[in-house]
Amino acid sequence: MDLNLLRERLLAIVGEAGIVCAADAAQRPAGFMRPEGVQCLLLVRPASTHEVAGVLRICHELRLPVVTQGGRTGLVHGADAMPGHLVLSLERMQQIEDINPRQRVARVQAGVTLQALQEAVQPHGLAFPLDLGARGSATLGGNAATNAGGNRVIRYGMMRDMVLGLEAVLADGSVVSSLNQLIKNNAGYDLKQLFLGSEGTLGVITRLVLRLRELPASQNVALVALRDFESVSGLLKHMDRTLGGGLSAFEVMWREFYELVSTPPAASAPPLPHGHAFYALIEAQGADQAPDNQRFVAALEAALESGLVADAAIAASQRECAALWALRDDVMQTARHGWPLTFDISLPLDAMQAYVQQLRAALAQRWPAHHCWVFGHLGDGNLHLVIHTGSEADRPAVEQLVYQPLAVLQGSISAEHGIGLEKKPYLHLSRNPAEIALMRALKQTLDPLNLLNPGKIF
Ligand SMILES: Cc1cc2nc3c(=O)[nH]c(=O)nc-3n(C[C@H](O)[C@H](O)[C@H](O)COP(=O)(O)OP(=O)(O)OC[C@H]3O[C@@H](n4cnc5c(N)ncnc54)[C@H](O)[C@@H]3O)c2cc1C
Repeated sequence: MDLNLLRERLLAIVGEAGIVCAADAAQRPAGFMRPEGVQCLLLVRPASTHEVAGVLRICHELRLPVVTQGGRTGLVHGADAMPGHLVLSLERMQQIEDINPRQRVARVQAGVTLQALQEAVQPHGLAFPLDLGARGSATLGGNAATNAGGNRVIRYGMMRDMVLGLEAVLADGSVVSSLNQLIKNNAGYDLKQLFLGSEGTLGVITRLVLRLRELPASQNVALVALRDFESVSGLLKHMDRTLGGGLSAFEVMWREFYELVSTPPAASAPPLPHGHAFYALIEAQGADQAPDNQRFVAALEAALESGLVADAAIAASQRECAALWALRDDVMQTARHGWPLTFDISLPLDAMQAYVQQLRAALAQRWPAHHCWVFGHLGDGNLHLVIHTGSEADRPAVEQLVYQPLAVLQGSISAEHGIGLEKKPYLHLSRNPAEIALMRALKQTLDPLNLLNPGKIF
């Protein structure tokens, strides 16, 4: 392939500002905490759906593989490219095209960051409730392509539940515009679902119609300590029932993680003493601070009286709410002993405690000096495991210990981060042969030349 000729043809579509050469692309970090540069033949930055379609038509004609990149905050190497790939970045597609406060929908280009939309809808008294630590860089297109989860799934669902319609460009450059803005629309197949969670393998998402919610007017947050896992699952049920739909987060930290993030050099002091088996951060959002606070406090008092909760610290101000969240979010403390291995899994609540105990025992047998920190969005059955054995070379052995038992438990090797390259060898543990065959058939139908994000997922 003549690179100059390719460049000329792409230039005619996206203009000078739309092309970045391989050497300049290599100056961009490949991902979060990954200083190595982006590899590619060329990086292209289209500014509209029309331009994306033009670029993909050329790539289709030349059989040139394309890797779509949003904010490159994905955690499973899903946006990694190789020197022979064309990288298609959505970074110039940052228009919030419309916010309709009555209909409670927003229409955006896919390169808009999550935080930009959150901030833009707030003056209308509305919220876009997806929220995650990478909000400042992660794009809405990336959120859709990974079906992102985050902190408030228990109340609002995952990204899939917030997308009403989308527009995607297929591998051959054809545009499928399905910009539905209705909550109910059962007129045939729901085509957007094909692209949600497809990690850039079925099409390039260019625009989205997103469902907005009323901005909560009250927030109550508490940190509680619990004696055993029975109490954790009992408390989840108790709070959800008592708060009548107001529960917006139920995050649990196993003892080791809590002690790590509340011990220097971590910035937070422990709001509750060390030594309890579990700690839960509980958040409720509602419409009226005073009565919502009364209901929240009463629910926690009942839990203390019945013995479900051993100790509790209730935030008395916005600042204290933020401080409790900061403690939970201080996951970088796990890098204190060197770069660890991180996992994002799902499993039924009933199986969780035994799974963690067995994993710890297996890790201790093989690596007596290991660290294993456990925390996560327990209200959604989603745990994050951070494991440090001292060597990256242990990764395959640790992955076996983490993933293998999930098949029997009907858990998932990926709760919210996707498969990318990192989890590809383990997909069969969470999906059966018929499911994988149907995934392959969909890929073959939409991208028969295997040009979009080749080699990812399966
Ligand atoms: C600090 C931190 C905290 C995080 N917390 C969470 C969390 O709580 N929950 C969670 O789910 N994730 C979390 N993540 C992971 C990450 O932020 C999400 O996966 C996010 O949705 C990725 O968006 P992005 O724009 O960065 O996508 P990228 O990383 O650029 O790409 C991710 C995948 O989507 C594809 N893609 C990107 N844009 C498009 C598009 N427009 N069309 C088609 N395919 C596309 C790429 O090819 C790739 O396969 C976290 C990451 C970090 C660094």
